[in-house]
Amino acid sequence: MLGLAPTRAAGLARLAGFAPRAGRAYAAGRNADLAGHPHVSGLSAYVRHRLVLESEIVAAAQALHGPAAQKFVAEVLWRTYWKGWMELRPGVWQAYRHGVRAALDRVAVEAGLRRDWQAACTGATGIDCMDHWSRELVSTGYLHNHARMWFASIWVFTLRLPWQLGADFFLRHLTDGDPAANTLSWRWVAGLHTPGKTYLATADNIARHTDGRFRPEGLARAAAPLPMDDVPPPRPAPRGGVPDAGQPAALLLHEDDLGAEFLLDLGLAPVATAVMTAPEGRSPLIVAPHVAAFATGAAEDATRRLAAHLGPVAVDHHGERVDRSARRSGRVGRGLRRAAGRHALGARGAGRRPPCRHRTRPRRARHPAGSRPAGLGRRPVAACDARLFPVSRQGVAMACCGTLTVPG
Ligand SMILES: Cc1cc2nc3c(=O)[nH]c(=O)nc-3n(C[C@H](O)[C@H](O)[C@H](O)COP(=O)(O)OP(=O)(O)OC[C@H]3O[C@@H](n4cnc5c(N)ncnc54)[C@H](O)[C@@H]3O)c2cc1C
Repeated sequence: MLGLAPTRAAGLARLAGFAPRAGRAYAAGRNADLAGHPHVSGLSAYVRHRLVLESEIVAAAQALHGPAAQKFVAEVLWRTYWKGWMELRPGVWQAYRHGVRAALDRVAVEAGLRRDWQAACTGATGIDCMDHWSRELVSTGYLHNHARMWFASIWVFTLRLPWQLGADFFLRHLTDGDPAANTLSWRWVAGLHTPGKTYLATADNIARHTDGRFRPEGLARAAAPLPMDDVPPPRPAPRGGVPDAGQPAALLLHEDDLGAEFLLDLGLAPVATAVMTAPEGRSPLIVAPHVAAFATGAAEDATRRLAAHLGPVAVDHHGERVDRSARRSGRVGRGLRRAAGRHALGARGAGRRPPCRHRTRPRRARHPAGSRPAGLGRRPVAACDARLFPVSRQGVAMACCGTLTVPG
């Protein structure tokens, strides 16, 4: 879905436009992958950056449909589940990144693998639906959920390509590309999430849900799970808390959560703010321009929206410091960036070294934090939506808003 305006206003307008269809119509039609995707919301890029919150989507759907919104609400909560699951097991993200690099090393020296991988990424496998989805993904930045499942299944079980390369292909092109939702969905298809359970794409199912546009031949008839890897035990859930409004604070806004309004509502008055995006960290290869443009645009929207409350702002997109409007904000920004390298996947922690070579966490920093008061009510134990801890050297506290998926 190219052409999405990366603003909260556009996301809310999209939500308002879709909400009337979020009840029974969604439950009945959501599996159909049709041109124009009439039965799904297309909200994912907005939720991914938290320009629109899960709680707002759920409330809008339930207000109009009551219990009939159940299917839609369940899908929204899948995202929350994936985010929380990954937050407790950051090693799964690190292992995935290692797997991508190892697979790319193989691509460099194995001509057959390189040929098949390139064919899958450029829409030249000869499997018509695969080639269509590959081109759709690259040209629009979006794929329907069912197409993502079929694509991943064919990639793994028919083409027998490393799953990490498929997940990487998605992350380079999806505007909603999310380390938790994407990595864990690929793992689920491959049988690495639920032991023994894989997802097998079949020609009949594809034909039924694409209105007969595709009926691929030669798909794998079985999907034996890939060998299970070691999943680290969950670490303790980060604790939430409420920011101390009386304490001087600096705010880090990063691309994983640009909905900082609730911190301001709690009385937080930042002395300065650092705004960071690093979508290029989603892959060792080049990330599509529309992906970076949406992330940057979303961060700019948040900065504009909250401008009156942020204090001096230091902006750092893709490692380029584009604005250091005040000495003070630059100083605070450096401290925040160091801390962000540790904590925010969407910021420097996404696979790059933190920008500063010194410590990545301020001395004597401690963690308790604010938690988003308007949560879903039943959010998983893993979801910690904000943190606040003192940046002792700057003499200010730091509020870092967001579900910080995978600390570095
Ligand atoms: C292999 C694979 C990779 C995926 N990669 C991503 C990704 O990188 N980022 C991402 O946001 N989603 C990912 N998904 C989940 C899902 O496909 C998309 O969230 C959904 O297609 C987005 O379209 P929509 O907003 O129109 O969804 P709708 O059907 O309108 O759903 C509303 C919202 O619920 C959430 N949601 C819906 N289905 C799922 C799901 N199965 N898992 C998690 N959240 C869901 C999304 O936030 C979505 O915006 C992936 C799924 C698979 C099978």
